[in-house]
Amino acid sequence: MHPKRINKVKRKGRAKIQDEFTNLQVSRQRKCQLRRQKEGLCIICGQPRVSPHYCLNHLVMARERQRNRIRSRRRNTGSKSYQLEAEARKTLARQRVRNKGRLAGKK
Ligand SMILES: [Zn+2]
Repeated sequence: MHPKRINKVKRKGRAKIQDEFTNLQVSRQRKCQLRRQKEGLCIICGQPRVSPHYCLNHLVMARERQRNRIRSRRRNTGSKSYQLEAEARKTLARQRVRNKGRLAGKK
């Protein structure tokens, strides 16, 4: 292309994100993960995280994936992911009970 015309060429799409990850020699996916990690979000889904990398949902998924990989039998039920999972289940159950009460009251 002629040098004078280069400035006139319009870029398609949105502008590139300019930050410390822009010029790293890693894939776009990895850059996205690094940006989410920096902001304190789950690197997979972008929800608030509970571990260094993952939200509770993806933490449990990663745990089970690794357990399958090494064929674990025992469970370390005192670990963080199990405790958080149990807490989340309790709050869900409480919410369900509350909602049932509301629905029954309306009828
Ligand atoms: Zn997630």
